[in-house]
Parts: sequence; C-alpha cells; structure tokens
Amino acid sequence: MAKGGFPIREIVYERIGILLPLAADAFRKGDLLHARRYVFLARKLSTRYNCRLSPRERAKFCKGCGLPLVPGLNCKVRLRKRTKSAEYACSCGKAARIKY
Ligand SMILES: [Zn+2]
Repeated sequence: MAKGGFPIREIVYERIGILLPLAADAFRKGDLLHARRYVFLARKLSTRYNCRLSPRERAKFCKGCGLPLVPGLNCKVRLRKRTKSAEYACSCGKAARIKY
C-alpha cells in the first residue's frame, strides 16, 4: 500500500465539491433521477474514502429522500435564535440542523 503519497482524499473532496452543485442544478432543471444519483455518489464517496462532509455540505441534501435541498423549491430554512441553529426542512418532512 502506498504511504500517503497519493492524495486520494483530496481528489474525493474535490469530486464531492463538484457533485453537490451538479445535484442542485439537476434538481432545478427537474431531473430528479440525476439529482438523486449525484447526491448518492457524493455520500458513497465520503463513506468509502473516510472523508467527513462538513456541516454545510451535509445541509445540502436530504437524508430521508436523497434529494438536494434547494431553498425555495423543496426546502425551508428557519433560524432558531434560542439554539443558534439553522433548520433545513425538506418537503418530505425530514429536517437537517446546523449550528451557526
Ligand atoms: Zn427529503
């Protein structure tokens, strides 16, 4: 096994950074099949190569239905002052919360 020479995780982070915007674009165009597929690939890559997604990246897709969260289309964003968290509520009923 190569000793840290090949930067596989950098490549994976780069690819995740490409896939998530692609998913949102596909969803805006109404292409649910590809939107789901891009989210699936990004999540699969992060588990396969042990690359943690940042809270911001995790708020870009729904864990319930696997679709990208696009505010105004299928997602409501609410700010909770008391807990200092942003809630990204999907139209399927699932919500992701991140601290701010
Ligand atoms: Zn959902």
